[in-house]
Amino acid sequence: MKVEVNEVAVKSIITPSNLPDADYVINPYLGCSFGCKYCYASFMARFAGIAEPSWGNFVYAKVNAPELIKKELSGRRKDKYFGKRILLSSVTDPYQPCENRYQLTKSILQEFTSAEIDSNIEVLTRSPIVARDRDILSQLPNCEVGMTVHYIEEDEPISMIEPRGYPMRKRLKALAQLADSGIRTYAFIGPLFPYMFYEEDRMSHLLHELREVGVQEVFLEKINRKAGMVRIHQADIATFEKDNLAKTQTADKMTDSQVMQMVEEYGLSLRLGSVLEH
Ligand code: SF4
Repeated sequence: MKVEVNEVAVKSIITPSNLPDADYVINPYLGCSFGCKYCYASFMARFAGIAEPSWGNFVYAKVNAPELIKKELSGRRKDKYFGKRILLSSVTDPYQPCENRYQLTKSILQEFTSAEIDSNIEVLTRSPIVARDRDILSQLPNCEVGMTVHYIEEDEPISMIEPRGYPMRKRLKALAQLADSGIRTYAFIGPLFPYMFYEEDRMSHLLHELREVGVQEVFLEKINRKAGMVRIHQADIATFEKDNLAKTQTADKMTDSQVMQMVEEYGLSLRLGSVLEH
C-alpha cells in the first residue's frame, strides 16, 4: 500500500517530555511511513482521526515546524532550552523518506545551530537519510545520533516486521559517515525478540560491526508486547518469531548479564546500564 503524505500546520512543535532521557521532544511529522509492526506510537493515529491499524500508511508533514522553532529559539524564549535534552523524535521517525522533499528536520536542526544554544540534541532514527545532515549535526555543541538496528544478515526476515525499513547495511554506512564527521553515535538494538538471545554468534557479529562503524554505546530493549502495533499484528509477529527460532543454531539462550558482558567486551557502553524490559 502506498503511503499517503499530506501537509498540516500545527500550533506547537516542541513539547515537554516525561521520557527518562529527554526534557523536550520534537516530532516534525505525524504518522510514520516505516510501519513497524512492533511500534508503540500507533496510538498517535487518533490525532489524525485515523484508525490505529492504518498506522504506517500515512504521514502528515508539519510544514510550519521550522517557523515555530525559529520563534521558540528567539529572544528570551530560548533560555528555557539551555542545557536541556531535546529528542527528535518520540512518536515518529524524523527522517521519513519524505524528509528528502520537506527537509523539516534539517531546517529545525539549522535553527538550533543559528540560535547558538547548548541543548543536548538527540536524534533517534532508523533512516540513513540522517547522514545527509552530518554537516549541521556536527556544528551542534552537544549532539548524538541513535540508529535502530537489528541483525545485519537478516534483512529479509526483518522486512516482515519492518516493512518499509531501509536495509541494515545502509544504516551502518550512515553510522560510519556520522562518526567520520565527529558525531557521537549509538545503536538502538531493538526490539529484541527472544530468538535473538539464542544467537550468541549473531549478537557478537552485530556488536563487532557496530564498533567498526564507530558506535560508542548501545541501547538494548526487549519487545514490548503491550505496544499498539504488536497487539494488532500478533499473528505476523508470532510467525516471525517461530520462523527465526527454528533457524537458530543453539538452544543455549544467553542471559541478560551474558549479553551485557558481551557489550562490555566489545568496549561499548550500555545505555541505562541494563537490558530494558517491559
Ligand atoms: S520508525 Fe518508529 S515511529 Fe515509525 S513505525 Fe517504526 S517504531 Fe514506529
